[in-house]
Amino acid sequence: MTACEARMRNRYRWSGVSLLLTSLGSYWKRSKVAATPKNPPTMEPCPEAAPLFTFGVIADIQYADIEDGYNFHQSSRRYYRSSLRLLGNAQRRWEEDKPSFLLQLGDIIDGFNKRDGASERALEAVLGQLRSGGPAEVHHVWGNHEFYNFSRSALLGSELNSAHRGAESPVGSPARADIYAYHFTPFPGFRFVVLDAYDVSLLGREEQSEEYRRALSLIRNHNQNQDLNCPPMCFGLNQRFTMFNGGFSQDQLDWLHSVLSAADENQEKVTIISHLPVHPASTTFVCLAWNFDDLLAVIRSHRSVVCYMAGHDHDGGYCWDGATGVHHLTFEGVVETPPDSDAFATVFVYEDRMVLKGSGRTSDRQLLFRHPEEPADGGSECSELSDD
Ligand SMILES: [Zn+2]
Repeated sequence: MTACEARMRNRYRWSGVSLLLTSLGSYWKRSKVAATPKNPPTMEPCPEAAPLFTFGVIADIQYADIEDGYNFHQSSRRYYRSSLRLLGNAQRRWEEDKPSFLLQLGDIIDGFNKRDGASERALEAVLGQLRSGGPAEVHHVWGNHEFYNFSRSALLGSELNSAHRGAESPVGSPARADIYAYHFTPFPGFRFVVLDAYDVSLLGREEQSEEYRRALSLIRNHNQNQDLNCPPMCFGLNQRFTMFNGGFSQDQLDWLHSVLSAADENQEKVTIISHLPVHPASTTFVCLAWNFDDLLAVIRSHRSVVCYMAGHDHDGGYCWDGATGVHHLTFEGVVETPPDSDAFATVFVYEDRMVLKGSGRTSDRQLLFRHPEEPADGGSECSELSDD
């Protein structure tokens, strides 16, 4: 029995306590921002105005042609076949909303496909469904399940590499060609940046490579479990040091810094998208990127970022960082959405806000942009967390 299995057995023995703690954690995650006096600024909705542009968002489809199952902790049901039908529901909505592009936030098919030799077939089923939805361009993000199914080099040569839709500019791509990160401008004054959250990871890296060795050394500093998919502890931020997470290399952070510097200068509004959440109040800690703090530091040193969107945590989450005015959104995962519900959004973008119309488990939200001249308030109720 591995240390992980021992801990999991212990967890089930105390499942009542665990469930209560999970519920309290979820309650805290969802209520913390609302319960504090410093909330995102609010304004009356302006449904009459025409949006500048519109886009669709969907996360963690994790399709597989297999029976329903459960997540790692056996606490949430996974509807592997139904996820394809729920993608169809999203597309029917998008046929009406006519988004100019779609964001697919990663884990498009489940890792079980690899076991069954069905990776290509499952991917083609989902991509075929996406293609049937109309002309909207799809920007793909890579998650852990992409790497369970395909090597990094295979992904770079696949339809899941949408970097060709990125901008041609002096800061067009990161210094290292194998980092999957790019940016694009769907409308003047607005920029989207796709980040590679598994740039530093055991997933997708050859075991003989320097990148793998460095990632192993990093995770081993925090996690001594035989099974590195098992978190090193049950509480605290260090839960994030598992094999199903990853992080951002210095190369990628430097590149992001240069992209955001140009965006600051041009007074653009930037939305960053990646698979892993980076704000501890927007997710359960076990789903955070390894070096979430490095990425938050880059975001906080620029005025241009207005929103960070991620998947991976199937329960979703939201936090408004008062120090920067950045909205951190984690989208609910399709695979853990019951067949009679939904999990997707259409986002209508205006000069001063994004209006998110969610479906099913995904809530409606108004995301106001901080005015470019508005000073940061110097504090964030979302980030007063200790690494316990
Ligand atoms: Zn994931």
